[in-house]
Amino acid sequence: MPIDATQPYDDANIFAKILRGDIPAERVYENDFALAFHDIAPQAPVHILVIPRGPYVSWDDFSARASDAEIAGFTRAVGHVAREHVGPGYRLLANTGGHGGQEVPHLHVHIFAGAPLGPMLA
Ligand code: 5GP
Repeated sequence: MPIDATQPYDDANIFAKILRGDIPAERVYENDFALAFHDIAPQAPVHILVIPRGPYVSWDDFSARASDAEIAGFTRAVGHVAREHVGPGYRLLANTGGHGGQEVPHLHVHIFAGAPLGPMLA
């Protein structure tokens, strides 16, 4: 069910639980600002999610409220994972809010890779 991207942050969401270590995930990278792990239902041969450690519902929320250090640390984590764990070439996606089809209310960037992806995912 797509979320309302303007809702307040709720730390009962599944990615907050992964961040806290309450539920497992196949982690591939972490730094002070971000955690990357494999998607549980991959939509490409490689499908990794990168999430910020901070409490941000969506890309809207993160880009408005996060500090410059958080934005830099998160962006560098996405770049690091893409360079070191996938290739050649990849696709980044951040579904945002209801019309964007976002389902988990903690910002996540999808990294799709591992095969030619075609012009656009459905
Ligand atoms: P959204 O539609 O919000 O952009 O994407 C949510 C993504 O989270 C989906 O690709 C879904 O497969 C993934 N996902 C949902 N629950 C879990 C989980 O418990 N563990 C992991 N690793 N991925 C999850």
